Amino acid sequence: MQIVLNSVVSMHYRVATSEGEQVDASTPDAPLTFLHGHGQIIPGLEESLTGKVEGHVADLTIAPEKAYGAYDDGLDLRVTKDAFPAEIQPRLLPGFRFMAEHPTAEGQQVMFTVAKVDEQGVYVSGNHPLAGKTLLFHVEVVGVRAASAHELEHGHAHGGPGCGHEDPGHDHGQEHKHGGNCGHQH
Ligand code: ZN
Repeated sequence: MQIVLNSVVSMHYRVATSEGEQVDASTPDAPLTFLHGHGQIIPGLEESLTGKVEGHVADLTIAPEKAYGAYDDGLDLRVTKDAFPAEIQPRLLPGFRFMAEHPTAEGQQVMFTVAKVDEQGVYVSGNHPLAGKTLLFHVEVVGVRAASAHELEHGHAHGGPGCGHEDPGHDHGQEHKHGGNCGHQH
């Protein structure tokens, strides 16, 4: 069965940057399972998998534009501490994250992470940690099947290990807990 729009794909993978930094990998008993064609994995990976079949093994080099985007210097900012609400200020430590409007693209929300705080202010970055990085993937497709009507209704694959979706009757009214190996791009 070929991978097409709405296939449920399971694959083992590992990924590193072109600089040799290990980024992520599936574990032997828990392949990544995702609904193909819905942007749940990076575009370059999704494109390369389309039309492939179970058993497909590949080494892929994916440019930033097809991964987490180019690095945007305009998203590295220094702001004064008092630009933040008073109740937030004590929490402004490296790693603290918050949503704010893009400094130039009006209306676009960006997740910022605090990098550093000193007497000059708070240094924040809205770049994804993998922005600007070329990624080297090793992938191995271990399963391809058609999505169920229920999965299509939800817009994601069910039954992947660690996905929290083993119960096929889970409540649509509640936000899904997408912990673990759920096949979602974060
Ligand atoms: Zn669901």
